[in-house]
Amino acid sequence: MNENQIIIIGAGPAGLMAAQILAEKGFNVHVYEQNKAAARKFLVAGNGGFNLTHSEEIENFIEKYEVKEIQEIVRNFDNQKVIDWLSNLGISTYVGSSGKIFPTKNFKPIQVLKAWLDHLEKIGVEIHYENTFADFDENFVYFKNKKEEIKLKYSKLILAMGGGSWKKTGSNAKWVEILQSKNIEIIPLESANSGYNTPEKFHLLQGQYLKNIKVSFGNHHKIGEIVFTKYGIEGSPIYFLNRFTRKFNFPLIIDVDLKPNVSEIEILEQLKSSEKISSVLKKKLKLSATAFNLLKTLDKETFTSIELLAKLIKKFPIEILSFRPIDEVISTSGGVAFSAFNSNLELKNFPNVYCAGEMIDWEAPTGGYLLQACFSTGFFVGNQVSKSLDSKI
Ligand SMILES: Cc1cc2nc3c(=O)[nH]c(=O)nc-3n(C[C@H](O)[C@H](O)[C@H](O)COP(=O)(O)OP(=O)(O)OC[C@H]3O[C@@H](n4cnc5c(N)ncnc54)[C@H](O)[C@@H]3O)c2cc1C
Repeated sequence: MNENQIIIIGAGPAGLMAAQILAEKGFNVHVYEQNKAAARKFLVAGNGGFNLTHSEEIENFIEKYEVKEIQEIVRNFDNQKVIDWLSNLGISTYVGSSGKIFPTKNFKPIQVLKAWLDHLEKIGVEIHYENTFADFDENFVYFKNKKEEIKLKYSKLILAMGGGSWKKTGSNAKWVEILQSKNIEIIPLESANSGYNTPEKFHLLQGQYLKNIKVSFGNHHKIGEIVFTKYGIEGSPIYFLNRFTRKFNFPLIIDVDLKPNVSEIEILEQLKSSEKISSVLKKKLKLSATAFNLLKTLDKETFTSIELLAKLIKKFPIEILSFRPIDEVISTSGGVAFSAFNSNLELKNFPNVYCAGEMIDWEAPTGGYLLQACFSTGFFVGNQVSKSLDSKI
């Protein structure tokens, strides 16, 4: 093959999107991937419902990303563009009741991926499987495969090797060490969209759900459903709080409002109306069995003080001890720092080397926001590379 071309490392959503943009503009694109197959994490994401983006209106949508740069990149290739892109691949979508966007039921995740890979093949993208990125310098990139070590000259190099969770999908974050050794600033990878470990007394509630509750940390709160597990708590309101708790040292306290639509005063009135606290909780306040069981973790003195109980129904403290281990969570925060990039996501220390996807330092909740930012950064970097090459012609 020609030894001076565009090389993309990582056949995940970000790398493949960059490849599509560049190939459609007529460039010769080679993707290198260490697995035997493309986009394994993309397929894993499809296991629990293939949530490709979200239908939210764009101004609210971009607020899910704290990083300004990512907000603008997502605005530029937004949820509607993802829907259009899928439609061009022959994949129809629908908006689920939660606002999430899924492929219609006739398309399994593997069929979505196949449609994309078929299109990439048609436009000339070559994917070189079972090649592991080993190093790079200003001109060359180095890979190892079963047979040999290879050295390729690149004109443009796009790194899209993902975050650090679910290593078995290939996203093992080994790139961190390689980039750090070249003085590229990396914000340490941490668990994101992660449950929290809690003290043992909550483990007794394992398998029980709390629905329509409000979970808060400081001024940040989200209504939804959480589940107690053998180690702690999980659920989308919990994942939402990750990025705020991350700024502090554990242990921390998050608060649960078990009755978001009823005021503390109304709760107290109800509790005063009868001698039997349990009966008021179950019959008048209609607390779920799990909410009741949670209140029963209180000591007797607190449980029988109706003033305290009313307060705790509105603000039940749950101590959180730590995030879950990186390998089991949905995504990671951290990655290549924005300070390492020019505004076009090209590395300041290595002109002609760009990054896309989850390996960059941003985080977002589940619900389609992760894949959206991977598609959007792939689109952005593909276009930046194209512009830069066009300007040299
Ligand atoms: C269980 C689970 C559920 C999820 N659910 C959702 C969801 O519902 N909605 C949502 O938006 N997102 C979801 N995600 C997150 C989403 O899948 C990821 O954010 C997304 O896949 C990241 O895309 P990426 O292209 O940046 O990296 P990846 O998809 O991680 O792809 C990176 C690729 O690079 C390759 N690679 C890594 N290192 C090397 C190397 N040294 N040499 C060569 N190749 C290398 C990997 O093998 C991999 O193929 C989920 C993730 C998980 C794990």
